[in-house]
Amino acid sequence: MQSYFKLTRAATESLAEKYGTPLLVLSLDQVKANYRFLTEHLPGVKVHYAVKANPERRLVAALAEEGARFDVASDGEMLDLAAMGVSPDRIIYANPIKTAGGLAVARRTGVNKFTFDSENEIGRIARAIPGGTVLLRIKVENPQALVDLNKKFGAPPEDALRLLRLAREQGLDVAGLCFHVGSQSMSAKAYTDAIKVCRRLADAAAADGFKLRYLDIGGGFPIPTPQDNVDVAAMASEIRASLAASFPDTEIWSEPGRFICGTAVNLITSVIGIQTRNSQLWYFLDEGLYGTFSGVIFDHWDFELESFRAGERIAATFAGPSCDSFDVMFRDKPTVPLAVDDVILVPNCGAYTSASATTFNGFSKANILIWEEVRAGLAVKV
Ligand SMILES: *Cc1c(COP(=O)(O)O)cnc(C)c1O
Repeated sequence: MQSYFKLTRAATESLAEKYGTPLLVLSLDQVKANYRFLTEHLPGVKVHYAVKANPERRLVAALAEEGARFDVASDGEMLDLAAMGVSPDRIIYANPIKTAGGLAVARRTGVNKFTFDSENEIGRIARAIPGGTVLLRIKVENPQALVDLNKKFGAPPEDALRLLRLAREQGLDVAGLCFHVGSQSMSAKAYTDAIKVCRRLADAAAADGFKLRYLDIGGGFPIPTPQDNVDVAAMASEIRASLAASFPDTEIWSEPGRFICGTAVNLITSVIGIQTRNSQLWYFLDEGLYGTFSGVIFDHWDFELESFRAGERIAATFAGPSCDSFDVMFRDKPTVPLAVDDVILVPNCGAYTSASATTFNGFSKANILIWEEVRAGLAVKV
């Protein structure tokens, strides 16, 4: 089972005092351990970190140093990677519907690998990057994923051959298939089912003269939650067996986001107000829905709040610091009774959190400290 990064009470309190809250603490060692975990359990599979999950520069730089590749979705992500000196051949532009600005930046920075799932996109790619390398994204079923991306993306398998032919006719380098089982996928089955569908499509394509050389199995690898702790090693071993059986001679890529960054960040936030409404307790925190807790909305994530108090659990409402009535993170959340100035630790909050935070109402985004850098300077033993 993989380890994950969690601050001790002493470290949490000491950091809160020294740096103030809200505060995000990022462990680059954990990021690297997560990357290595996947490369060890899926040997040979080329890991492309999905930058959207957490684009923090120091995190991306640590992965670049480890030899990772990157999955991007926009002009901004490509420009950031280019500015960091990441070579364009380590990048896949994996948004099936790209903006004109995105295609222009791909051309300018030399990014040459793309995904598509529709007829219209073929001409757009072919005009912007003649002869570009493309992978067709296939729609797969996975009702068990937390965030089902297949409602928005993926060509139905029955359209695959027609789309591959159209891309070939437009002079593109038709190089492979890809899929994304959906985020926080709880089992290997969605992957092994999708791999079987891709094998069938790759056979049909081969009979039509295509020489597909890549299969991209996407992201979706889960992180632990209080309810589930999926054995990702066992999951990877099932996926590995399926790949060995169906695609022994194909170069395999993956695009993990959450798995790489989710367990590497802790949020420290403070109780700044307490109120009773309709006989329920409300706790106001200095971090809210417009900040790190944006994942409640965009990622459907239920964050774990740890206070360092003992006591009987009650149900309370947790709200953010802004003046918007929408800024409520949790209702009926079990908690021990809290007091103003209590610090709360939120582990496993590195994915789809600060990435979608805003500065609405003038609240700055939470500062991000690198754990390995601050540890040395802490007065407490950790
Ligand atoms: C968001 C995304 C990912 C990462 O998904 P996770 O569930 O975070 O692993 C990978 N590939 C594509 C195309 C994506 O849109």
